[in-house]
Amino acid sequence: MIEIDNVSKWYGSFQVLADCSTRVERGDVVVVCGPSGSGKSTLIKTVNGLEPFQQGSIRVDGTAVGDPATRLPALRAKIGIVFQNFELFPHLSVRDNLNLAQVKVLKRSRDEATANGLKYLERVGLLAHQDKFPNQLSGGQQQRVAIARALAMDPVAMLFDEPTSALDPEMVGEVLDVMTGLAQDGMTMMVVTHEMGFARRVADRILFMDQGRIVEESSKDAFFNAPKSERAREFLARII
Ligand code: ADP
Ligand code: MG
Repeated sequence: MIEIDNVSKWYGSFQVLADCSTRVERGDVVVVCGPSGSGKSTLIKTVNGLEPFQQGSIRVDGTAVGDPATRLPALRAKIGIVFQNFELFPHLSVRDNLNLAQVKVLKRSRDEATANGLKYLERVGLLAHQDKFPNQLSGGQQQRVAIARALAMDPVAMLFDEPTSALDPEMVGEVLDVMTGLAQDGMTMMVVTHEMGFARRVADRILFMDQGRIVEESSKDAFFNAPKSERAREFLARII
């Protein structure tokens, strides 16, 4: 579903991604971890065309990312992305947050978009909050709306960039529960997170990044029980 082949990227002379390759099969859940500044966010953003890259290739469901012929809005409609800071539209109700891209990008009618959006709002447990504005919701609720908004586009894969890092601790669980449900329903997911409990429960594989490289790619058992690299061992010792 996601094929990343020898991707490199530079900011000026600073190399932020170095020869990154991986494959995410349909239904796989891949957790990406590693120290701050190792390139995790950049890698995730290259997958849906939010960050250009200079070398290598990325294909999502057969569509070449970075090919000038690929329409970026269509590509982004295929891959949902959820960030640390929710990034809901503050001036729109929850319902209209879910409608906007469905109407603008997918050309759905307003009624069709609303019906579809409410289905996902129900799935994240927030149907009763459809008329509220983002600032009337808790952080955990806002993040669940952001997930529902991404799902309403009927994506083939979902990307998450530290979706619980900005939340108060008591709200982390409700967001991870939604993500766990998605994983169990077979969604293809790449998740940048330091929530190693979540990784142990739902990840099929772990990618460990350091200094722009994918240093290690392992099954979760291999990663947690016997990390191959010294860097991964040090990382795990610090965060677990
Ligand atoms: P992570 O998500 O693992 O913390 P990032 O992908 O955000 O790492 O960043 C990787 C590196 O790239 C960091 O050293 C960061 O400072 C650098 N970086 C990120 N964005 C830019 C940018 N727009 N210009 C220059 N350097 C950047
Ligand atoms: Mg990051």
